[in-house]
Amino acid sequence: MQKEFELVATDRHSKARRGCLTTAHGAIDTPAFIPIGTQGSVKGVSPRELRELNAQIVLGNTYHLFVRPGLDVIKHFGGLHNFMNWDGPILTDSGGFQIFSLAKLRKITEDGVEFQNHIDGTRAFISPEIAMEIQTALGGDITMTLDECVPYPCEYDYAAQSTEMTARWAKRCRQWKRLNSETAGRELAGPSTRRFADSFLFGIVQGATFENLRRENAQAIVDLDFDGYAIGGVSVGEPEDEMMRAVEWAELSLPGNKPRYAMGLGTPPQLLELIARGMDMFDCVLPTRLARNGTAFTAKGTVNLKNAEFILDKNPIEQNCACDACREFSRGYIRHLIKAEEILGLRLITLHNLHFYLNLMSQARTEIEQGTFDQFRKAFVAEYKTRDAVAIE
Ligand SMILES: [Zn+2]
Repeated sequence: MQKEFELVATDRHSKARRGCLTTAHGAIDTPAFIPIGTQGSVKGVSPRELRELNAQIVLGNTYHLFVRPGLDVIKHFGGLHNFMNWDGPILTDSGGFQIFSLAKLRKITEDGVEFQNHIDGTRAFISPEIAMEIQTALGGDITMTLDECVPYPCEYDYAAQSTEMTARWAKRCRQWKRLNSETAGRELAGPSTRRFADSFLFGIVQGATFENLRRENAQAIVDLDFDGYAIGGVSVGEPEDEMMRAVEWAELSLPGNKPRYAMGLGTPPQLLELIARGMDMFDCVLPTRLARNGTAFTAKGTVNLKNAEFILDKNPIEQNCACDACREFSRGYIRHLIKAEEILGLRLITLHNLHFYLNLMSQARTEIEQGTFDQFRKAFVAEYKTRDAVAIE
C-alpha cells in the first residue's frame, strides 16, 4: 500500500483542513486525535475498546518501550503491532522528549544523547540513527526524527544552538532512512509485516518561543523534505498565547500538501484553535491522565467527579453522550468507584474522556466538510469553561 496524504476539504474562514492519511495499517482521517499508549497500552483500555471508540491510530513511546521491556522482547513478538495486538496505524516518537523530561544524567553532544533511564539507572545512548533503528524495530507507521526539546523559559542563545542541532539531527534521520528503507524492518514477522519504506517520517520543528528561530527552523526542516511535519517544544509550561504564536510562526513555512502534527497538545478548546491554525494531528495525555484523578471532560468544561455535589447524582457524566460509561452508569456510582479506588472507576472515566476527544475530532471533520467549522469552533470555545481548579499541564 502506498503511503499518502490527501486533502479532502479546506475551511474558507480559517486554515482548518479535512484530510486523510493512508498508512500500511489503514487510514487516519484528519483532524485526528492520537490516544497515547505509553508502555504499549493506552492505560486501562484494550485495543478492542479503542476500535469501538473509533480510534484510528495510537502512539507508542519509544523511550518507555526501549527501557522496558526492551527491543529484543518486542522484536521477538514481531513488532509492536503484534506485541500489543493493535492492527491499526501506530505513531512512534523518537524518545527524545522523555529522555529530556524523565531520564537522569543526560549528556547531549552533537553525536546524540547519553542518559541513565529512570527505572533502574542503566546507561544508554541514543543518536538520530539509533532513534530510527529503534522505531524500525517497533514497526511504527509514522516515525519521528530525534530532536532536542528545550525547556521553558529558555535563553535565546541556547535555543538557537539547540534548534540548529535539531535540524542537523533531522537531516541524519532523513539520511538514515534513505540508506536503509529497503532493508530495515525485515525481521518483523507476522501478518502485520510491512516494509519500513512504507512508513512516514515526520520532521520536528523546534525554536522555543522565538519567532525567527521557529520560522528558520521550520524552513530548514521543510527543505529536508519529510513526509509530514510536527511542531514540538510546545506546551512545555509557556503561556497559551505564546504556544499559539509558536505554532503560527512554524506553520507559515509548512507545505499545504503534507500532514501537520502539533505534539503533546492540548485541551479541547486548544485543539479546535490549533485546527483553525492548520494543524491536523494531536496527541495528549489529558484524557487519560485526568481520568485517573476523577476528572471528566464535558462540553461545559471539566468536572471532578470526586466532588461531594455528585454523591446522589443519577445523571450520566454527560447527557446524550454515546460512550459506554454514560449509557450505563451514573455520576454518583462512578464517584463512589473513584473514592473507593476501584479500577472500574478510572476505566469508565478514561473511556468517556477518550470518546469525548475522538468525537470532538469527528465533529470537527464534519464541520469542515460542511463549511461550518468556524461557527462550530467559536460556539464550542464559548461554552467550554474549566469548572474546577484542575491543573491542566
Ligand atoms: Zn460519556
